[in-house]
Amino acid sequence: MRILLVEDDLSLADGLRTAFRREGFTTNHVTSGNQALEAIRTDTPELVILDLGLPDMDGLDVLQQLHEHKNPPLVLVLTARNTTEDKVTGLDHGADDYLAKPFEMTELLARLRALDRRTNTTQTTMITIGSVALDATTHEVSVNDRVIELTRREFMLLKSLMETPGRILSREQLETRLYGWGEELASNSIEVHIHNLRKKLSANFIKTVRGVGYTVGKA
Ligand code: CA
Repeated sequence: MRILLVEDDLSLADGLRTAFRREGFTTNHVTSGNQALEAIRTDTPELVILDLGLPDMDGLDVLQQLHEHKNPPLVLVLTARNTTEDKVTGLDHGADDYLAKPFEMTELLARLRALDRRTNTTQTTMITIGSVALDATTHEVSVNDRVIELTRREFMLLKSLMETPGRILSREQLETRLYGWGEELASNSIEVHIHNLRKKLSANFIKTVRGVGYTVGKA
């Protein structure tokens, strides 16, 4: 699951990013409401973790504006506003979950796993193209019914391509899906993952469109 963390408390954000990475979630982090709205437009995260006390605008306004999108991400509000009335207001503004600070990390992670299960059931969990079958829930990939082992990033890359068969994804689009902002990556990492995937799948399953990007065929 790709998470957008909207939080102006930098030390809290650092701790959260570390915990999310261990849990297998990719996190992008922004510190203001305007940056959040921009990132939601360009990055299409699956979940937004939203602080309400932001420097430039109220998080509730971010919440309202992001629901004008066609496919709005799930939103977990994480805030110091902790009265029942605050929670009701947040949920009425369209939040999917609400957790007041201070909170226990174990509880936040459990709530994220629950939201992750929701994102998985709203999308098709099983994608089959040609001889390759990918299960988005169990993260299992098989070729001609034989299960193959993929690294986490190989799986995410393959999933991105298989979710949009026939569509060409550029290296930059794939990097956005696989890596959080500011994460160190070699300029050829996507090429390396593609190379390794081709050794595990049939060699011509992922097609290179020279100068544009990568695609997999329609079923
Ligand atoms: Ca804040």
